[in-house]
Amino acid sequence: MKAVKGRFFFGGVHVPDMKALSQDCPIKELPEPPVVTIATSQSLGKPAIPCVGVGDTVAKGQLIAKADGAISSNVFAGISGKVTAITELENEGGQKGTYIVIEGDGSGSTQYLTPLTDPSKEEIVQRVKDAGIVGLGGAGFPTAVKLTPRTPVDTFIINGSECEPYLTCDHRVMIEKTDEVVRGARYIAKALGVSNIMIGIELNKPDCIAAFEKYDDVKVVALRKIYPMGGEKQLIYSATGRKVPVGKLPADVGVVVNNVATCLAVCEAIELGKPDLDSILTVSGKAVANTANVLVPVGTPVSYIIEQCGGEASAPKKVVLGGPMTGVAVKSYDLYVKKTTSGILLLSEKEAAAEEPTPCLNCGLCADHCPMHLMPMNTAFYSSAGDIENAAKLGGAMYCIECGVCEYVCPAKRPLIQAIRKTKAAVRAQQSKGGK
Ligand code: SF4
Ligand code: SF4
Repeated sequence: MKAVKGRFFFGGVHVPDMKALSQDCPIKELPEPPVVTIATSQSLGKPAIPCVGVGDTVAKGQLIAKADGAISSNVFAGISGKVTAITELENEGGQKGTYIVIEGDGSGSTQYLTPLTDPSKEEIVQRVKDAGIVGLGGAGFPTAVKLTPRTPVDTFIINGSECEPYLTCDHRVMIEKTDEVVRGARYIAKALGVSNIMIGIELNKPDCIAAFEKYDDVKVVALRKIYPMGGEKQLIYSATGRKVPVGKLPADVGVVVNNVATCLAVCEAIELGKPDLDSILTVSGKAVANTANVLVPVGTPVSYIIEQCGGEASAPKKVVLGGPMTGVAVKSYDLYVKKTTSGILLLSEKEAAAEEPTPCLNCGLCADHCPMHLMPMNTAFYSSAGDIENAAKLGGAMYCIECGVCEYVCPAKRPLIQAIRKTKAAVRAQQSKGGK
């Protein structure tokens, strides 16, 4: 179906996309790492509970940790081998969690789920849950929950915007796995009981737009290239004109959104019985020897991936897991890929260009560009004064999608995201203690 143009949304920013560094690198399956270290926390919500013990032999695709409740996800062995440790480690954000270490045996034994033919809507939802599929656009929300919305929906949107600079793994998926993405989207649409399938793709990916225009049952929306076009609320408005009110969910305006990689995972879980056990991610930045898009099992060490990409071309000024706008800057390569890891960036001195923060100029630019109409300078001001209540109330921190636009445009280089995350964590801690 011929693409139609998307609408403009308020706020946002034009960021150099840096996609030329890796957009022509086909997805390459790396040789299996000798050891994987798999976090039991692979989604929003509670970590999964290990169901294997040290010394157990496991097959690739075997369940190794069971979801703990609805907002949690099953975790699977990404390689075959022996469980050598179940241990506590720090993740990229510095939080401790349980990890299952598997030493590979190279046997290639697999234990997948039984493939399904023409599944019912209930079978699709159950399979997505059993296969541990989570939103692969970054947030890691368990997909099965999204497929059973509390309110009726009429539209499913595939998020193919990939607006984060540097990242091109979704671009490659859209080109190399177009049909699987469409089949996955059709299963999701069936589970939701909708016939209106749309895909939003930014105009900087004309090859992807052309690839999806070949399907009669998928409406392609060509989106303006602006960050954060891939934010759910921004995408929904651009594609449908519907506004998701503050504090409401996409389903409240009749829409469910999933990323292209999630659609691919759904297709593979149904047709191949393959659980969510690997990740396709971009390795980029001018400080890595060879940029790439790679397919690796969850738990693969970041150090192994960099080694497989030829190592460092120069000493990186900054290393980021994820994209430069929403990812996490890390100090070590001793970290492990999760289902949601979308990128590893080794940024050179020039690319990182970090500047020291200076006092706020009260220029208002952060608020002018915020796509959620928030006041991030207020959150930063009250948070630094220890006044969490006003940081949340007068800055709107709890509605922040952490897109990073405010920090990007701030001429004083204020650490706004840090203040927002701190405020959110403090509010959630108060709420879990029963406070308001
Ligand atoms: S306050 Fe949040 S939503 Fe607004 S620009 Fe900053 S990071 Fe994005
Ligand atoms: S953009 Fe930066 S300097 Fe300007 S008001 Fe916001 S925090 Fe202050």
